[in-house]
Amino acid sequence: MSVTSVDSPRHRVVIIGSGFGGLFCAQELKRADAEVTLVARTTHHLFQPLLYQVATGILSVGDIAPATRLVLRKQHNAHVLLGDVRSIDLEARTVTSRLLDRDTVTEYDSLVVAAGAGQSYFGNDHFAKYAPGMKTIDDALELRGRILGAFEEAELSDDPEERRRLLTFVVVGAGPTGVELAGQIAELANRTLAGAFRRIDPRDARVILLDGAPTVLPVYGGKLSANAASRLEKMGVEIQPNAMVVDLDADGLTVKDKDGTERRIDCQCKVWSAGVQASPLGKQLAEQSGAEIDRSGRVHVNPDLSLPGHPNVYVIGDMMALDNLPGLAQVAMQGGKHVAKEIKAGIAGSPPEARHPFKYFDKGSMATISRFSAVAKVGKLEITGFIGWVMWLVVHLMYLVGFRSKFSTILSWTVTFVGRGRAQMASTEQQVFARTAIEDLQDYERARAAGLIGDPTAVFTGEEREKAG
Ligand SMILES: Cc1cc2nc3c(=O)[nH]c(=O)nc-3n(C[C@H](O)[C@H](O)[C@H](O)COP(=O)(O)OP(=O)(O)OC[C@H]3O[C@@H](n4cnc5c(N)ncnc54)[C@H](O)[C@@H]3O)c2cc1C
Repeated sequence: MSVTSVDSPRHRVVIIGSGFGGLFCAQELKRADAEVTLVARTTHHLFQPLLYQVATGILSVGDIAPATRLVLRKQHNAHVLLGDVRSIDLEARTVTSRLLDRDTVTEYDSLVVAAGAGQSYFGNDHFAKYAPGMKTIDDALELRGRILGAFEEAELSDDPEERRRLLTFVVVGAGPTGVELAGQIAELANRTLAGAFRRIDPRDARVILLDGAPTVLPVYGGKLSANAASRLEKMGVEIQPNAMVVDLDADGLTVKDKDGTERRIDCQCKVWSAGVQASPLGKQLAEQSGAEIDRSGRVHVNPDLSLPGHPNVYVIGDMMALDNLPGLAQVAMQGGKHVAKEIKAGIAGSPPEARHPFKYFDKGSMATISRFSAVAKVGKLEITGFIGWVMWLVVHLMYLVGFRSKFSTILSWTVTFVGRGRAQMASTEQQVFARTAIEDLQDYERARAAGLIGDPTAVFTGEEREKAG
């Protein structure tokens, strides 16, 4: 184990997470009289709103995930540490992170926790094996492989039933991510892949978007939801509202409709975009501070975004619960900047009582349905179609980090939206199978450590895996 403490008498700020909250907070502290250490489990900042475009072959990983170290290269008070934060000790004011077998303890004077949220399977975590979520680059690349792999397998099959199953794609969750993904899978099948196979017609693909809610994009409501639904249907996406997934396996899923009847959908490729659960670090903070957490694991914070009873610890972005603010990039960015300003004021001698409450400025929200079509809500203004799409384009370009990413994204969008090609259509076997292989290996190691398997060369059966938990 190593203990890191920045060799400086200056105030030490530790930020956990290099997402929208963490990175924007670190950048806002550029001129602060402080040393800023950003600890994250990935080497990059990830622009999550465009992950679905990596999954569907439009953008490359580099377009949406610049290396954090390079983004902060010229910010001399910033230190970047790679590591998965395992524990926070509010009493000792330390954060312990792990990289492979190495534990690192980092001391802080102020702590900003911006570890975001993961996918929630509502208690059915085993669904993840066959229905990856959309939270990380690994998820997006795995999904790309699964989508393209399904077309490849269908080309090889002589059995019409099997072909139908292989060419059925199910997206669970009709929020913005689900809608965007379903739309892009449909465009991929109908535009990009059309004519590229000899034995199948990719346009036979069936794309199903299902949700327990009665409509797509329920948070937008009314006209925008209806517009999105009608546009998706025109593209051939089958919308199945009021449908709850009750079981899911390698070959398909079982859905319960509103009237209680259960039905089976046979399909190879499934994507889960139906719920989020805040980082488990929130629970640790709650246990140590007595703060409350909500059903999604988000920590109830004070109006200035500090942790109750701990004025030097802040929780921001997808991990915080305050005034029903949604889990949006803007909430995280503005929260990060707000906290940085309060930390700077504190260093300058301002007491915690003089802090300002966080005020979120709602700049609106938007989702693309297809090329040249999006829905956007800005205050009371509701915009659809081409104008909405141009707004979506401009806003996403504005917030992509770095000139190189913006430039290469514009090029890729031109290729895809004006033409019908996609530049990122490669996928590898490892991208598709690495996650499940690693999980199986971890299961195996756990079982061996628990003495459930004696012979390391023995095959680990399903029964043994169940026993190992
Ligand atoms: C597919 C998708 C599409 C989205 N689309 C939109 C959209 O169109 N518009 C919009 O406004 N919002 C959108 N969002 C939501 C938006 O991306 C989030 O609200 C935002 O990223 C939250 O920022 P954050 O900093 O709280 O967390 P994140 O951006 O998730 O960052 C969390 C950071 O913490 C790190 N981390 C996590 N756990 C640990 C740990 N234990 N140790 C160390 N590091 C850790 C992660 O690696 C990451 O760097 C979308 C989200 C997803 C997943």
